[in-house]
Amino acid sequence: MRVSFIGLGLMGYPMAAHLARRFPTVVWNRTPEKAVRHARETGSRAAETLAQAVDADVILTCLPTSLEVQAVAERVLADLKPGAIWLDCTSGDPQGARDLAALLATRGVTLLDTPVSGGTSGAQSGALTVMVGGAVATLELARPVLEAFAARIVHVGTLGAGMAVKAANNTLAAVNILALAEVLCGLEREGIRSVAALDVINHSSGRSNVSENLFPERVLTRAFPLTFSLGLLAKDVSIAARFLRMQGQAAPLVSLTDQLFILARQELGPDVDHVAAVQLIERWAGVEIGGKGED
Ligand code: NDP
Repeated sequence: MRVSFIGLGLMGYPMAAHLARRFPTVVWNRTPEKAVRHARETGSRAAETLAQAVDADVILTCLPTSLEVQAVAERVLADLKPGAIWLDCTSGDPQGARDLAALLATRGVTLLDTPVSGGTSGAQSGALTVMVGGAVATLELARPVLEAFAARIVHVGTLGAGMAVKAANNTLAAVNILALAEVLCGLEREGIRSVAALDVINHSSGRSNVSENLFPERVLTRAFPLTFSLGLLAKDVSIAARFLRMQGQAAPLVSLTDQLFILARQELGPDVDHVAAVQLIERWAGVEIGGKGED
């Protein structure tokens, strides 16, 4: 099976490296130097053109949003091979996936939306979770490709369902980041050390991945290493908020989280790590979580 991968970002680069170990893999990236480096480091082959990049049985994309994927698909439409499968690993929009599927179907290409979770560490270790929307029969054909970088593959529904579940999951992380920042700022103002508060929370019912891993590693250390940008998380929360609005469902918490992340993106910029959103809350509270002198 010949595989191609478009979008060698923080996620795509290691995902495509796993593919190159199992399949003849062609890679393409907007900034071509990354594709050349990928070929040198992993044994993939760097495509010189997008047309070369879609000469494959299975095409994978991992781009910022559905808009960039749609634009790439429009550019390569005439070059697509009927019978190919397109796996979109972007955290995209459910309606965007359905629109893309309709476009690809005009060339006999079948789409599955296959966004992933597990972060850059999961991508590097090949242990991502893939949430799949689309036809089960297509998933069975594509499964060996997904298994190259996934520890868990879950079929969640029809086209767009993977995107919807992905946005829902990330929205829960976003809520947790803001809620934990608010309560820890309040505790700091009371003179209670965040390291002690987290020790309690992480052995109690309020714990989450955010409290157990992200805050100790990124907030208490004040390191905020970039693994997933604030702009991309804000995009995910907006997708979830729009999805819930379209269901006609009251979702005040998601709606407020959406507004707060839009504000955080404006205040802090889209390119900082997503966990840096706590700095918005800290500014309002006038304290720093795990402030100076706290170990
Ligand atoms: P990055 O910003 O690291 O990479 C984005 C990639 O898209 C780069 O290869 C970039 O190319 C390419 N790109 C950007 N704009 C365009 C364009 N207009 N045309 C063609 N290519 C373009 O993002 P991530 O790898 O972090 O995220 C990718 C997707 O995966 C997003 O949807 C994100 O929400 C999702 N995701 C991210 C996770 C994470 O922890 N980082 C975890 C799970 C999902 P170039 O190199 O030229 O800039």
